[in-house]
Amino acid sequence: MARRPVGGARGQARRVRRGVRRRWLNWSRARRELKPAQYGNLVDYHIHTKLCGHAYGEPAEYVREALRRGLTEIGFADHMPLLHIRDEHLTMEPHELPEYVALVREMQERSFGITIRLGIEMDYFPDQMDEIWAAAAGIEFDYVYGAVHYIDGWGFGDSRRLSSYRGRDPDETYGRYFDLFCEAAREGGFDIMAHPDLVKKHGIVTSVPVDDMYEAAARTLAEANVAIEVNTSGIRKRVVEPYPSLGFLKACAREGVPVTLGSDAHVPAQVGMDFDVALELLSAAGIREIATFERRKLTLRAL
Ligand SMILES: [Zn+2]
Ligand SMILES: [Zn+2]
Repeated sequence: MARRPVGGARGQARRVRRGVRRRWLNWSRARRELKPAQYGNLVDYHIHTKLCGHAYGEPAEYVREALRRGLTEIGFADHMPLLHIRDEHLTMEPHELPEYVALVREMQERSFGITIRLGIEMDYFPDQMDEIWAAAAGIEFDYVYGAVHYIDGWGFGDSRRLSSYRGRDPDETYGRYFDLFCEAAREGGFDIMAHPDLVKKHGIVTSVPVDDMYEAAARTLAEANVAIEVNTSGIRKRVVEPYPSLGFLKACAREGVPVTLGSDAHVPAQVGMDFDVALELLSAAGIREIATFERRKLTLRAL
């Protein structure tokens, strides 16, 4: 059963814990903000544009926020158009892809004094990858994120459809998510897997330990030569923590999986947001380098 309808003392205790964490994050905001110099070595590779229909503001406003924070390298990675689902609040239309590329190229040409990469966030649909890659042919991305937002056609990450969790077994949801995640890493052709444990977004919890899933996923990533990102947007969601969880990140560190960084900004103020938490997480996992990409070539940079 999903976490949302949980009642009784257990549910209440969870809600209280979540509330305390949320308040702590707000109270300590000013103290925890990184200094511009600390942002200097970091990148924010996961920035959306209004073309996707659920992000707001002009691209230049996102760039200015990055400059204000002291970031020296960012990348736009908007949602790749979905080929078989039409929803103006999910992704740009296929015919808008050239417009997206032109928008990012324009930002690169405006010499803001910051490195701007062209990325994309591509959904993993097991039977459509040839078609999806064909739609992206000829575009020189700096990196391509792979993302599992769908489990067998179910858009589990969609915050507008929380009721879709009703009647589903969290253990099965987790298991299926991680199967697809590993498949995507092996077969998707991606450089980075986005928000690696997105399945926890709405706070569902399993009745079984998930360590084996983390281990298997980390091994798969290492074998397939695919990086992951620490994505701070989970802090803004019901789960109130970054993706991935510390246990998953530690497994990735043990396997030598490269790690990059993204805020998943959908409004300008979210660029570089909560990167202090990301830095703590990276340090707790013993990670001292982050992965940067140019024309799909990975370079590690010391933190
Ligand atoms: Zn989005
Ligand atoms: Zn995503």
